[in-house]
Amino acid sequence: MRAIRITEDHAIDVIEARVPALKQGEILVRPRACGICGTDLHILHHGFPGTCYPVTPGHEFSGHVVAVGQGTKGVREGDFVAVDPNVVCGECRWCRAGRPNLCLHLSPIGVGRAGAAAEYVAVPARNAFAVNEKIGAGVAALIEPLACAIHAVETAGRLRDRRVLVLGGGTMGMLIALASRKMGAGEITLADPVATKRAIATRIGIDKAVDPSALGDELFDVVFEAAGAVPALKQALTCVDKTGTLVQVGVHDVDVTVPINPFNVYEQEITIVGSNSLADKFAAATELMPDLQKEAETLIGEPFNIWDFAAAVESMAAGHAIKTQLVFD
Ligand SMILES: [Zn+2]
Ligand SMILES: [Zn+2]
Repeated sequence: MRAIRITEDHAIDVIEARVPALKQGEILVRPRACGICGTDLHILHHGFPGTCYPVTPGHEFSGHVVAVGQGTKGVREGDFVAVDPNVVCGECRWCRAGRPNLCLHLSPIGVGRAGAAAEYVAVPARNAFAVNEKIGAGVAALIEPLACAIHAVETAGRLRDRRVLVLGGGTMGMLIALASRKMGAGEITLADPVATKRAIATRIGIDKAVDPSALGDELFDVVFEAAGAVPALKQALTCVDKTGTLVQVGVHDVDVTVPINPFNVYEQEITIVGSNSLADKFAAATELMPDLQKEAETLIGEPFNIWDFAAAVESMAAGHAIKTQLVFD
């Protein structure tokens, strides 16, 4: 089979690889749609913790089950599935504590093991979630980022009637805004310096979409830093209201630091909390996505053929669409 491979020295190759042999509990999936996200850019350009180079990327995907290995339950050949990319050990103290995203032996598909930018990918059957194919392969491939958004929103704690600010109008920011709405948040404001992103935020029904410079000294109960950018985080720290919560969702480079004002955190009783990946929210996202199909479709740009991976990455980095996806022959 053919597969995309990223090497440690930033090269993207199309390689001929063996169709993966299925291990106990695994199924073989033929991907139909696969998203590219910031994590893939990190893997390509800076190195991302936990990446096993050379790696076949692709961790946001949907596809058909074409073979099932031994010891698989609940999945059948021909099923259409979305896949939770986080392969965990199930035994370490974080797994046992119900925090699988913090697994000590985490090996995400497309990062620590071969991903979906290939004709076939082997995945543990328990990571596959059946989806009604009618929602579309692209929308199904957005279930993974939606699960991350749900985890972020739940990390924020109570949202009902609280004023929410989302900094960053990428896929995560948009999905966090949508998930916040589902959780009954009060007014939701999304801030992004790019006008086309604000226009899309408005189109999917976000209450307010503004340029970050227009926020002034407005304060919010819950602030999501979903830009992964230092200016956004600095701004986020200044616009959390008393007893408010700042959720760090955006992925910064590992050595970035930002000063905080501890007096402010103390006096205003502010909570700063991280939200990493999707935890155990994949099933919840699978359930929610049909309600958000229209909005999800609005986020997806004109797809690229899988073998045009390099062009897709360029387009993604240039911000031509909120979500860049690959489709398969
Ligand atoms: Zn991703
Ligand atoms: Zn574990």
